[in-house]
Amino acid sequence: MQYPDLNSYIGSSSYFIWKEALWLPKGGRAATEEDGLNSDILDAIINFTENYLDPVRDYLNIPFVVHCWYRPPEYNKLVAGAEHSPHLCLTDIGNGMFCSAIDLHPVFEGMSEIESCIKGTEMINSILCEYSLRMENLGSSPLWIHIDNVPTQNAFRFFTP
Ligand SMILES: [Zn+2]
Repeated sequence: MQYPDLNSYIGSSSYFIWKEALWLPKGGRAATEEDGLNSDILDAIINFTENYLDPVRDYLNIPFVVHCWYRPPEYNKLVAGAEHSPHLCLTDIGNGMFCSAIDLHPVFEGMSEIESCIKGTEMINSILCEYSLRMENLGSSPLWIHIDNVPTQNAFRFFTP
């Protein structure tokens, strides 16, 4: 596996860099091969960025702050993530590709983080089907937005974790 330069953009993205995808906030470091990172997971992150996340970023047309993205198995346990969390990048989404998932908040000018998450959730909810995304329903006072590209039926795109 060729370990990516953490400060370089992911694939063709001009928004997101590898450090945002691989950083483990509670560990204070980036994920490595020793954590289980491999070329299939890097490919999943590139696919997610280019074909799902960049279009959402273009649609909202404001900066995003990334909270967490890839989680290795041990780290997912540390943060009490769901057993089959899409943050693990282990769910097969077809054509030999794995899923990816991100937690973020959009930065709407003059709005608090919660207000930005509420507005961002409403905006992204209206394009889930068109953009083949899922998003977690994090209630009326969300502190972040979770989106992933796990395939599902349209009725289950805005799901309760
Ligand atoms: Zn999440």
